[in-house]
Amino acid sequence: MRSLPTYQDILAAAYRLEGHAHRTPVLRSATADARWGAQFFFKCENFQRTGAFKFRGAFNALAKFDAAQRSAGAIAFSSGNHAQAVALAARLLAMPALIVMPQDAPAAKLAATRGYDAEVVLYDRFTEDRVALAQRLAAERGMTLIPPYDHPDVIAGQGTAVKELMEETGPLDRLYVCLGGGGLTSGSALAARALAPQCQVYGVEPEAGNDGQQSLRAGHIVHIATPKTIADGAQTQHLGAYTFAIIQRDVTGILTVSDAQLIEAMRFFAERMKMVVEPTGCLAFAAACAASEASEAERAMQGVRVGVIVSGGNVDMARYAELLAAC
Ligand SMILES: *Cc1c(COP(=O)(O)O)cnc(C)c1O
Repeated sequence: MRSLPTYQDILAAAYRLEGHAHRTPVLRSATADARWGAQFFFKCENFQRTGAFKFRGAFNALAKFDAAQRSAGAIAFSSGNHAQAVALAARLLAMPALIVMPQDAPAAKLAATRGYDAEVVLYDRFTEDRVALAQRLAAERGMTLIPPYDHPDVIAGQGTAVKELMEETGPLDRLYVCLGGGGLTSGSALAARALAPQCQVYGVEPEAGNDGQQSLRAGHIVHIATPKTIADGAQTQHLGAYTFAIIQRDVTGILTVSDAQLIEAMRFFAERMKMVVEPTGCLAFAAACAASEASEAERAMQGVRVGVIVSGGNVDMARYAELLAAC
């Protein structure tokens, strides 16, 4: 293991991302503020390139490659937002990319990944081990494997979103972050510790997949079976060695929300803020709403300045309509 990334690494990542990643908007909602009695600041990574924050980490990691790594290129395994992030980052940096994706990945995701000029290698989820396959291909072709969250350069890249947020808002009182493998949460916590030492930072996972919460309680990384949840970007089975170490040190707590709460948040974003947010991207806001409802008696949220990371907006439209129609 390398040493843990620091805020200095986030500053360096921000410099690398300048002119390549979007500086995403920080949106407000008077309706949300009135309804939940807090001041919400939404950092909208659904408007990031490729539709999710993952472009930040992927681009930062690939931009640090040396000449030999650049000529051989990058490899990743993912059926989700990390695949497109690595594919686009590689294209912008003019290097080859190979993405290992499941045979039964949605056609739209395969097309999007190929659309960024990446080579796609398909595998059978039921009979093949994608990590072993990716490692074999990496060795054969001399390519560098970039994992979706447990990598210092990926974590530092993800941390640039909260750096931008707090540069714009000043120090916030609370910050809610969507949590899967913990790249976004650990990077966000590093940025928050530097820019707002008093800020309470919460990672938010799906109720069905609370491995992060269990890990904090146990004091070691807990592995779970792939959880059943509509938050497909947070179906991770465990945190990483780097992400767990940072989360354990710098995060206030880990909260969970149900799929029904995610759909309510998704509807709020659509109706009130006119934004398409994927289920996983709704984790943070769903928990922020629940926290304010729980604390209504004490008016604990009154006037509190709350940062909410809206992590992504990639959802198949037929699926999106189906989820919104269901309740
Ligand atoms: C990957 C992803 C997450 C989870 O991020 P981690 O760094 O794995 O914790 C959350 N939301 C979206 C939209 C994602 O693509």
